[in-house]
Amino acid sequence: MAERNDQRDHGRDSMMRKAATLGRQAVTEDDLALINQLAAEEMTADQVFTFKAVLCDNKLDRHFERFTRKALDELRALFMGKTVIKDHNPSADNQVARIYKTELVTSATELVDGTTEPYTQLVAHCYMLTLESNADLIAEIKGGIKKEGSVGFRVSSAICSICGTDNAKKYCRHWPGKTYDKDEGKVLCTFTLDGASDAYEFSLVAVPAQRAAGVSKSYTGKTEYEPETPDNPPAPPEPGADPEAAKELEMRARYVEARLRSNASK
Ligand SMILES: [Zn+2]
Repeated sequence: MAERNDQRDHGRDSMMRKAATLGRQAVTEDDLALINQLAAEEMTADQVFTFKAVLCDNKLDRHFERFTRKALDELRALFMGKTVIKDHNPSADNQVARIYKTELVTSATELVDGTTEPYTQLVAHCYMLTLESNADLIAEIKGGIKKEGSVGFRVSSAICSICGTDNAKKYCRHWPGKTYDKDEGKVLCTFTLDGASDAYEFSLVAVPAQRAAGVSKSYTGKTEYEPETPDNPPAPPEPGADPEAAKELEMRARYVEARLRSNASK
């Protein structure tokens, strides 16, 4: 399975993937007007089914990475008009929906932990045609059975919180999720993703749960794994994670290409 994923991603060496969450929404007149700007022929409300998806946000995720708000805004522009695929294979048959509106939804009250940045989600509004061939998928989204997707993208910058190195250019010796001794005490290493340069895909399939063991970095197209030594115990649980959040985070496991795993074992 992993090998197939590997082939599918061939040529997208620095693509990163994150989980997205789907939700229901009703078709409004405004939606229909936007859809009709993209559609080849005039659509009526009963010819389309729309849904929304949180593509990403600016919170620290389970990989100890977070987007800047600027990166979210860049992704907002990049994902506009993109087709939505059923799995990770962008063949014509799999193109089931299209993004007709993207927006940043900013919380009026919630700040991102440890920052003064308001919590922000990148939300994509998508439409599908209510064709017989889409009936199962529409029912699954409506019924809340299908509620996860994933986005594939590329960033030009991944800054280490410990040393400031841009790991999209050159890997430093720090690993996201590990704590390091600094003058001010123990500091958690996180990576800040910025400069979104490509939005490859929005797939209506959850990020595969299997993930190579260990901490890894995959920002330059080459994946590097933290060496296993007695000095490198497994990553501590995310600070402040409650059981419910931990469960949610577990579901958001990111998929790492097998190609990269095989590189690591060489
Ligand atoms: Zn570093």
